[in-house]
Amino acid sequence: MINILKKRVDETMPEVHLDQEKCINCKTCIRTCPMGVYKEESDTVTVAAADECIACMGCVAACPTGAIEVIE
Ligand code: SF4
Ligand code: SF4
Repeated sequence: MINILKKRVDETMPEVHLDQEKCINCKTCIRTCPMGVYKEESDTVTVAAADECIACMGCVAACPTGAIEVIE
């Protein structure tokens, strides 16, 4: 039963991908995300809490370089 529930959660959880090659560290995604998914670490923006993502697509729309992909 626990395995079934875990599988359901995994299937419905969005995936957040940040392409470091395209990222210019503008931090717009950090400011835009209502769920605190992104954070800055050693001058690099990273996906720190992908499991909090609600797939609002705000970061995808706001990123100036197209570095972010969110897959529902
Ligand atoms: S908005 Fe895009 S370019 Fe700016 S820090 Fe986030 S991922 Fe990088
Ligand atoms: S889709 Fe929304 S909730 Fe998910 S990381 Fe982007 S801004 Fe945050």
